[in-house]
Amino acid sequence: MKSSAPHRIVVVGHGAAGLCAALSAIETARERNVAVQVTVIERAPQAACGGGSRWSPSNIRMRAPDAMEDGFVEAILAQSGDRAERAYFERLAQEAPATARWLQSMGVAFHSPPYYLAKGPARIQPVGPIGVLFHALWRAAQDARVEFRYACALRSLLVESGRVVGVEVEPGRETLRGDAVVLASGGFEGSAEMLRTQFGPGGDTLQPISPGSALNDGAGIRAALAAGARRAGDWNGMHIEPVDARSQASAPVVLVYPYGIVVDRNGRRFFDEGGGLVHETWETFARALHFDLPGRVAYAILDAALFEIPEYGRAIRSEEPPLRAPSIPELAAQLGIPGTALAETVETYNNACSGDVTRFDATRADGLASAPGLSPPKSNWARPLNRAPFLAWPLVGAIAYTFGGVATDIDARVLGAEGPIPGLYAAGEITGHFYGTAPNAVAMLRALVYGRIAGRNAIAFNEEKTIS
Ligand SMILES: Cc1cc2nc3c(=O)[nH]c(=O)nc-3n(C[C@H](O)[C@H](O)[C@H](O)COP(=O)(O)OP(=O)(O)OC[C@H]3O[C@@H](n4cnc5c(N)ncnc54)[C@H](O)[C@@H]3O)c2cc1C
Repeated sequence: MKSSAPHRIVVVGHGAAGLCAALSAIETARERNVAVQVTVIERAPQAACGGGSRWSPSNIRMRAPDAMEDGFVEAILAQSGDRAERAYFERLAQEAPATARWLQSMGVAFHSPPYYLAKGPARIQPVGPIGVLFHALWRAAQDARVEFRYACALRSLLVESGRVVGVEVEPGRETLRGDAVVLASGGFEGSAEMLRTQFGPGGDTLQPISPGSALNDGAGIRAALAAGARRAGDWNGMHIEPVDARSQASAPVVLVYPYGIVVDRNGRRFFDEGGGLVHETWETFARALHFDLPGRVAYAILDAALFEIPEYGRAIRSEEPPLRAPSIPELAAQLGIPGTALAETVETYNNACSGDVTRFDATRADGLASAPGLSPPKSNWARPLNRAPFLAWPLVGAIAYTFGGVATDIDARVLGAEGPIPGLYAAGEITGHFYGTAPNAVAMLRALVYGRIAGRNAIAFNEEKTIS
């Protein structure tokens, strides 16, 4: 070892980004033959640690573990309305295959199951139950002798002469000094106050999509901003999905709505349910549902034709069965919405479903559009609801993560007004790189890739500091 005093790295947050940072800091230190002590502080008690990562199915936007999809960067830039930073996503694409190999070396295997029902961008997924990737990282970090401090929350950053030199934590306002700090404490989806400030009335009542999401209260973002970090990303953006209002499960999404209609509690349609593949419409739908609809609730209405869609259950993650009825008015009675209005809505919709139903294909935008005049239109999958049993799911919007965060560069350094803030790194959801709508299956990938980069550079920073 080059020196007896170990480099001390403090990582804030025990999700995918934080664990990758901790692991790569230790590996990099070993490669450079320097002593290191890495401490991960985690706000939650051990049993509840892991943030969104613990509950994430971890779909990853890659063609295969060793290959990105063609045109990845251009697709992300286009989706962001050219607001995303090209260099950030180029680095993401460049390092993704090596990061996947690194995860494979920890025992993570990948496969490419169909994504809900529809085809979309190519994705890989870890083999195993929800959280398998998180648990592999956690095990590897334990083996690597990362120190964990649970029920230990970041309060603020310690800054001396413009450099970040540690953190102050709660409880007890204890100080932990570090040669570098990596912030990986997620977004602000668990802060009613920040959500209300950003999204207005109703922001504070957004339901977190998973138990882990509720813990991300934006403390890391606030601490970084107080230390001079710049804001970045779309502060008006969030990833939100429609979930079963009755469910107690994590992320009980109901993503069959494109194959039927969705109504408000007055029995009226309010958006184009077939406006795109489900991952292209879920955010605008769930957002309208929560912020614009009376009672912040909507109802997906389908019929027996659903059962003929191969593997339709892949798109329903609720443990609650749908409400069923032999007629639309009886279904409306179960839902507590006006039967005449719902029957009228279904009749109007059915009359506009004049296309050739043999064209119906749940796996792609099939072009089976409603006849002109239906308002709102239905652009795909428009076939009539006329076969009992009729089915309904009550839906609410649930937030998965926010887009607004701190500015970072391609080395995961946190940027202030004058450039990188010495000693401060960040990765994952806490960083602001998404704009408009969430790029599909990229959130976990960036946590992994940039978490790894952050840990590596936290050591490199200290090495350079030691040399100079
Ligand atoms: C249900 C669900 C499904 C998802 N599906 C996908 C998917 O298929 N593909 C995809 O790409 N993305 C998906 N995502 C998003 C993706 O999983 C997350 O963006 C990613 O896991 C975030 O990782 P992270 O490490 O940045 O944050 P997190 O995993 O949220 O970790 C943050 C950690 O910081 C801790 N923390 C928070 N505040 C403090 C504090 N003040 N002090 C100390 N610790 C603190 C939290 O407790 C938590 O452990 C999904 C998310 C959810 C919730």
